Amino acid sequence: KKVLVVGGVAGGASAAARLRRLDESAEIIMFERDEYISFANCGLPYYIGETIKEREKLLVQTPESMKNRFNIDVRVNSEVISLDTRKKLVTVRSKDRGMYLETYDYVVLSPGARAIKPYIEGINSKRILTLRNIPDTDSIKDYVDNQGVNSAVVIGGGFVGVEMAENLKHRGVDVTLVEAAPHVLAPFDTDIVAAVEKEISDNEVQLILNDGVKSFKDLENGVEITLNSEKKLKADLVILAIGVIPDTGFLKESGIKLGAKGHILVNENMATNAENVYAVGDAIEVVDFVNKQNTAVPLAGPANKQGRIAADNIAGLNTTYKGTQGTSIIKVFGLTAASTGNNERTLKRLNIPYKTITVHPAAHASYYPGALMMTLKLIFSEEGKILGAQGVGSDGVDKRIDVIATVLRLGGTVTDLTELELCYAPPYSSAKDPVNMAGYVAE
Ligand code: FAD
Repeated sequence: KKVLVVGGVAGGASAAARLRRLDESAEIIMFERDEYISFANCGLPYYIGETIKEREKLLVQTPESMKNRFNIDVRVNSEVISLDTRKKLVTVRSKDRGMYLETYDYVVLSPGARAIKPYIEGINSKRILTLRNIPDTDSIKDYVDNQGVNSAVVIGGGFVGVEMAENLKHRGVDVTLVEAAPHVLAPFDTDIVAAVEKEISDNEVQLILNDGVKSFKDLENGVEITLNSEKKLKADLVILAIGVIPDTGFLKESGIKLGAKGHILVNENMATNAENVYAVGDAIEVVDFVNKQNTAVPLAGPANKQGRIAADNIAGLNTTYKGTQGTSIIKVFGLTAASTGNNERTLKRLNIPYKTITVHPAAHASYYPGALMMTLKLIFSEEGKILGAQGVGSDGVDKRIDVIATVLRLGGTVTDLTELELCYAPPYSSAKDPVNMAGYVAE
């Protein structure tokens, strides 16, 4: 059995490693367009911010370690430029080997998604950078380390934008964060995100909401940014983080079905419409676990799980993917914000009736030192079924959202939250955990 894997990071590397565990004899070849495989995308902002100090720590696996550990033939600097599903072969453009064809029995596509770079005047300035991989990280870090960056404008208040704003600030850079929507971090509702925005401002990042970029202009030593409001900003460096689009251009002629925005369409086995071609990760449309509509959720957890499921199916196990909840978390200076399931905006858009409650419990027993309040919001159906949750606070938010995410995954209700027996001693929680409290109030 000969299996080709396109893309060597989250989804691709998971699929390849799982397949090897299931099938000792399969020939597995992994193609990666860039120089690096299996790196820690999620750690990149923290390396730029120097919380993660050693660059090698970002490189989880190397081609050599994948060969030694899993007997996988990793080919870096090798881009798959087309896929012929009839003849079952791919065309590869390699730095060292030029163009060549490779046949397959099975393919796993995990090409991910790249940063959106819209056609805006001046966008090609070399001071405007995006962040996806190690070379992008090296460029941004080189600017900050060696080229006297005193000011930066981050365009886009999503997860990557907010993390970059914090990490540049950590490096002593003067940062402005520009968001076109009324608030940052789209997965959260306005009431929850207000605390995040205050934290951003309190940490002296200038926050501009409801304003997008109209144009850029290179200056002698910097770049001028004109916003839609005609407000002008000046910076030594611009980070563009306004979202991602699937990296699926090479599939245009393949006959593989793509969605409206270019995401690969798959079934619950991660199979595309083409025989023996599977797809996973940021490049695919998934089913929203709560509302069952198709959506795209570019997160590492789902990509890894889908990679494993694609490998299972290639090995003959009939494993299925049951949808993405979008459970996510972000550190914003001293705060943590986390969410799972649907937010109010999504439910309203789909006309799904819901109720919400919000509680403000302490993260642990209030008489034990350091008990800080959190905000926990629960979104549930008329019958009490959990549809989503969001939390923000300085401590203990991650575990509460993870617990609720688990109950949501298992189809649970607000009554189930009241019945959960969670660990308690004063330094960690209260006899009525914040999750129980949310359940009591919702019931
Ligand atoms: P990727 O990991 O992007 O891998 C795709 C690979 O395929 C790329 O290396 C690309 O070069 C290669 N490729 C593309 N086309 C071809 C081709 N034609 N031929 C050969 N190779 C090709 N998610 C979280 O859940 N939590 C986080 O904290 C988090 N932080 C993030 C921070 C940053 C800065 C970024 C950029 C992302 C972050 N993510 C986070 C998202 C997470 O990294 C992605 O969801 C995940 O990596 C997706 O995996 P993937 O395999 O689909 O794509």
